[in-house]
Amino acid sequence: MSIVKELSCSYCGAPISFEPGEIIATCKYCGYTVVIETGKAFTFEHSMLLNKYNLEQIEEPVKGWMSSGFLKPADLAKKSKITEKALMYLPFWIISVEAESTYKGIFERVSPPLVKEGEIAKKYDWLVLARKATKFPTREYDVPLEGKVPYDFRKIEGFAKVLNSEIDRDEAVEIAKQQIVEHHHFLAQQDVDKIIEMKNEIKIGQTVYLHAPIWFIKYEYKGEIYNLWLDGTTGTIIKGDIPTAKFRIF
Ligand SMILES: [Zn+2]
Repeated sequence: MSIVKELSCSYCGAPISFEPGEIIATCKYCGYTVVIETGKAFTFEHSMLLNKYNLEQIEEPVKGWMSSGFLKPADLAKKSKITEKALMYLPFWIISVEAESTYKGIFERVSPPLVKEGEIAKKYDWLVLARKATKFPTREYDVPLEGKVPYDFRKIEGFAKVLNSEIDRDEAVEIAKQQIVEHHHFLAQQDVDKIIEMKNEIKIGQTVYLHAPIWFIKYEYKGEIYNLWLDGTTGTIIKGDIPTAKFRIF
């Protein structure tokens, strides 16, 4: 069991509770965001995305997803039951990045093999989940950034949970850099078979701390429980577990 600690909000005086490992906490009564270790105000931009669904409405995109797509059992929407619906505001760091990679490699699909050079230059708003053990398919989440507004605690539904950050800005930047290098490595491998040399130049721009509304849904189908993640801003399914068809062999 985790021990919950408390500090008092220096803006409204209310207690702000946090758990071990959390680094940045937000007061649920006034929205004040504090760096736990120093007790000082958080200085980066703190934004949020708005949730557009209530507990009843969220069933509609879930049912829609269940009844479409040929990979799913035909009776999925009819036979499944939603057993859990939870709205969570997950913390993310969004790091604006200009990344340039140059590489040299061997193209082996011709004879004799060729030495080839290439360049990858891209701009990203790279998303880093600010939680360490929370299960969430970050790479599959196409964050609808155009809808971001300054964080406003009054927009948080009473039944929703807001998670604090366990990762500070510098750590998030390091994670982003590492993931971008891996991603460019992957892209270069589409062009050459063996990479001999690769240089990466990563320029970090603005960083934003963002709370995004994510619905966690659990549903039951033929005695098994499956998970679903939905974007509360758009109703899009981020990822859903699909029951695999079981064939009975006689
Ligand atoms: Zn407060």
